[in-house]
Amino acid sequence: MNKYILGYRCTVCGKFFKPDEASLTCPICGEKGILDVEYDYEALKKVFTKEYFANNRNYSMWRYAPMMGIEDKHIDEMLRIGWTPLIKSRNLAKEFGLKELYIKDDGLNPSGSSKDRASGVAVLKAIEAGAKVIACSSTGNAASSCACHAAHMGLPAVIFVPKRAPIGKLTQISLYGATLVIVDGDYKAAFKLSKEAIDKYGWYNRNAAINPYMVEGKKTVSLEIAEQLNFKPTDWVAISVGDGCSIGGVYKGFAELHKMGLIEKVPHILGVQSTGCEPFVIASKKGTGLEECEENTIADSIAVGIPRNPIKALRAVEYSKGAWISVPDSEIIEAMSLLGKNEGIFAEPAASAAVAGVRKAIKEGVIKKNESVTIIITGNGLKDPNNAQKAIIKPDLMEPNINKLDIYLKEKGVI
Ligand SMILES: *Cc1c(COP(=O)(O)O)cnc(C)c1O
Ligand SMILES: [Zn+2]
Repeated sequence: MNKYILGYRCTVCGKFFKPDEASLTCPICGEKGILDVEYDYEALKKVFTKEYFANNRNYSMWRYAPMMGIEDKHIDEMLRIGWTPLIKSRNLAKEFGLKELYIKDDGLNPSGSSKDRASGVAVLKAIEAGAKVIACSSTGNAASSCACHAAHMGLPAVIFVPKRAPIGKLTQISLYGATLVIVDGDYKAAFKLSKEAIDKYGWYNRNAAINPYMVEGKKTVSLEIAEQLNFKPTDWVAISVGDGCSIGGVYKGFAELHKMGLIEKVPHILGVQSTGCEPFVIASKKGTGLEECEENTIADSIAVGIPRNPIKALRAVEYSKGAWISVPDSEIIEAMSLLGKNEGIFAEPAASAAVAGVRKAIKEGVIKKNESVTIIITGNGLKDPNNAQKAIIKPDLMEPNINKLDIYLKEKGVI
């Protein structure tokens, strides 16, 4: 057990449990009682000093290990996750009319998405727990990432995905040697089957919502953004939202830094969904609970009709005085192209949604042009080349003839 953990607080009933009083979810509320890990922040304050950061040469998310809920026994054996670049945008900033825009490129993680932050923690926790198998269901990225880190640590993995998972992600899972179950149905169906199997066979459960430690990995993206900006994070941080685990982590990271006195304010968090699947946007508009939505968008990673981590996600936006926004697939595709052309960054549709969301939030006056913004790019575009082709014009075959080439280059305006 990590020595800075005090225990867990249930996000539903608010009760606090000591580490030995609860396992994955609240003993009173059951399945719905998702827990939050709480630390001794006074003790952590003494660890995370300016000197600690200045002298720490571990340029990965493991530099924050004392506040990630893990023992640090095996971290040196893990792949390098995190400490992804925070890129200061010139071209896209200009395009959007923003003075200050940063892009946190989490597509550069080992399996190509920000899910590596959670999967790394999950695999370590599974090893701590002496598990023989790790299992998860996901729209694709948590799956490929779980398979990746389990492979590296020699832990067998069983992975459940919906049949629509894109080819890049499916290929990764099998290539990493995991047992792949492609469920003939949507993500809801994959989640349900994985849960039955996990209960039946007693595997370690990486499912993002249920397992409170996933947020402990996800939150490191905020710790990095803060540190990379010298503990003065931007006014806004934008991220796309499916289950709601990532945005919950983004908030928790900043909130904990604030609690420890390392940053002066928590950025406003912009939660972005696709109009084809927008349960959070609808809930925030109506002020009601979440209603199940269809999963109808090219942004497969955020095509989550029943979000499994609703409370943490809704609180992230509410407590940070942020906003919810949704964008149609057409704008997601445009944003993918804008990001590629302007910054040389190739993002998958779900990640591009955050870019489209920021563009729309500026148009609607939610984000002011004199405010600074960080966009988290959650997944690499190579994972889903089929949808990426919607954002490009594929050239015709060229005869090997210089005159024909001449015509083509003139058309393109390069000569
Ligand atoms: C998982 C994922 C998200 C959303 O994260 P949630 O925790 O499901 O809300 C966004 N973008 C990409 C690329 C993802 O893989
Ligand atoms: Zn509870």
